[in-house]
Amino acid sequence: MKSWDAIIIGGGIIGLATGYYLTKKKKKVLVLEKNEIGSGSTSRCIGGIRQQFSTPCSIKLAMKSVELFETMEKEFGFSVEFKKSGYLFLAFTEEQKQKYLKAIEIQRSQGLEVHFIDRKEVKKLVPGIVDDELIGGAYSPQDGQAFPFYVIKGYAINIARLGEVRRRAKVTDIIVENGKVKGVVLEGGEKLFSEIVVNAAGPWAKDVGKMAGLDLPLEPERHEAFITRRWKMESIPMIVDYRKDGGYFQQRINGQIIGCYTPVPRVEGTRTDSTFEFLKEMSYRMARVIPELADAQILRQWAGSYTMTPDGNPIVDESEIEGFYIAGGMSGHGFMFGPGIGWALSNKIVNGEWGLDMSEFSIRREFQKAELLK
Ligand SMILES: Cc1cc2nc3c(=O)[nH]c(=O)nc-3n(C[C@H](O)[C@H](O)[C@H](O)COP(=O)(O)OP(=O)(O)OC[C@H]3O[C@@H](n4cnc5c(N)ncnc54)[C@H](O)[C@@H]3O)c2cc1C
Repeated sequence: MKSWDAIIIGGGIIGLATGYYLTKKKKKVLVLEKNEIGSGSTSRCIGGIRQQFSTPCSIKLAMKSVELFETMEKEFGFSVEFKKSGYLFLAFTEEQKQKYLKAIEIQRSQGLEVHFIDRKEVKKLVPGIVDDELIGGAYSPQDGQAFPFYVIKGYAINIARLGEVRRRAKVTDIIVENGKVKGVVLEGGEKLFSEIVVNAAGPWAKDVGKMAGLDLPLEPERHEAFITRRWKMESIPMIVDYRKDGGYFQQRINGQIIGCYTPVPRVEGTRTDSTFEFLKEMSYRMARVIPELADAQILRQWAGSYTMTPDGNPIVDESEIEGFYIAGGMSGHGFMFGPGIGWALSNKIVNGEWGLDMSEFSIRREFQKAELLK
């Protein structure tokens, strides 16, 4: 009978980060991925990494992630294209400015370098930006980006040194006995045993929860994105435009512009079809902020899932089934939170302590306090 220190369901950033930090603690880990690694949400994200959140819990988690992103090149032996290229949240109204100022106070109290910059400074930072209605923006030069494909590659290679990352391995059932998890069953019937099982199945985490009899408040929704050909190098930080018809975009370190927006109304489910409407809208929304970008050539578009909880914050916790952990509901923050969550989960599993305040992500919370900056 083959058994493991931990079995992780899902080969996205969350499952692989958890596997990697467990492996670093000398645990024998098996990651099961039904398709290819990164094939869920992770390879479809736009690689943004920010620490500008509105609560100490989220800020600290994101700061821990940044600390870990910074060490990846050394640990993996290759670059993950991590760069502190900044995040700029645009303010168009006094109300928005006040909201950012309040958040900045909390962010600074946690040690984050962040400022409210006026219109002139925004213009200096992002040449060519339209400043008619702009008041200024919340800016942290400590935020940035990395390339998801390299991050998960680094994690997967290193897990495989002590454990295994098995592709095309779909979990169809969770083995639970007397309120404790004992292992999983794969499509085809193979049983694999461990007293620790982590549900990191991203948009399918609700389905995996059901296998153990849990009804998790997780709902996937479709988000589309596009990337342009290389744009003349200017280093545009992640621009966050929270207007109703705004969006998010940044320049990758190779010069490409990558971006997306939150669709209204929501498009529920795990569909990944792309629309012409997105292409048109996103082009318009980006060029409205920086008109020169109307000349950028779009290279590719795609879609993926955000997995939402009722309050927009992740669930990272041990469930009511002993040894069965849930790490899901990452919304649009799973890539940036991923390393921190994996590190904290590995601490909890091995030492019984998270190593960070993770109370905001408890499965037992009321789901009423929404993150303001999302
Ligand atoms: C357009 C877009 C832009 C985004 N931009 C950003 C961004 O800039 N920054 C950021 O932080 N986040 C961003 N996100 C969100 C981010 O992509 C997700 O939060 C993150 O990737 C979630 O990671 P995950 O590991 O939870 O899920 P996933 O990457 O989906 O991994 C889950 C894996 O589990 C596997 N799986 C599911 N069921 C089973 C099963 N039964 N058996 C075995 N395997 C199974 C799936 O195949 C999948 O590979 C974006 C998302 C989208 C769609």
